[in-house]
Amino acid sequence: MILFGDYHTHTKYSRNHHGKSTIEENVRVAVEKGLKEIGITEHGFNHVFFGVRRRNIKKMRAEIERLQKIYPIKIYLGIEANLISSEGDIDLTEEEQKWFDYVVMGYHTFGLPKSAKEYFNFFRPNSKAYKKNKYTKEIIEANTMAYIKAIRKNRINIISHLGSKMKVDPVKIAKECLKSGTMIELNARRLCFTENEIQDMVKLGTTFILDSDAHIASNVGECNRGINCVVKNNIPQSQVANLDKLPKFVWRKYE
Ligand SMILES: [Zn+2]
Ligand SMILES: [Zn+2]
Repeated sequence: MILFGDYHTHTKYSRNHHGKSTIEENVRVAVEKGLKEIGITEHGFNHVFFGVRRRNIKKMRAEIERLQKIYPIKIYLGIEANLISSEGDIDLTEEEQKWFDYVVMGYHTFGLPKSAKEYFNFFRPNSKAYKKNKYTKEIIEANTMAYIKAIRKNRINIISHLGSKMKVDPVKIAKECLKSGTMIELNARRLCFTENEIQDMVKLGTTFILDSDAHIASNVGECNRGINCVVKNNIPQSQVANLDKLPKFVWRKYE
């Protein structure tokens, strides 16, 4: 069982020293660890503290093109976009989605909501529910629908740390992911599925992807938590996009 790539890593381009290393440092570690591919995915524009600046995307692309000539590894430029509304909006326009080789999307408490209404009706109830660990059925349903709408509307290739800070029905979301070609991440820092949920997703034919979510170069390629989850739950290797093979980033619009 060999990990071929790591598709969720942060660098200094996530603001406020959130990512500790440079793109080159992440790439170098990935090469040392024998990976064939690495993705750089900073926090999306609406992240209040850590979001990458729009103006830096061109710089990042140029840096990746430079490194691509030096290092024997495929380097992708992705982004970790934020879910910013209950209607499935994310902090990337359709045009901006084209700037990236693929899009990772997740919910972050400090992703700026699309509007004040979304703050009061969606973000705030979720923060309260999370703090008290008391989710009503309505909130879980609304959260699940927000993700489903997001993958219908946007080119989302990977959903990051699903269930972290926002409780959802991951199996319902996984069903939709099959239609769009979206992968569900087994994140090394935040893995929030129950064994039953994993089993149900496996039965559906979900495609998982292992990611480190590294915020420092030394953690690139460290996906042990996800690998343990694969082994423990007998997830067929064929359903893990970056084990013994390379993932394909496809996303299709569906109704
Ligand atoms: Zn994240
Ligand atoms: Zn991340």
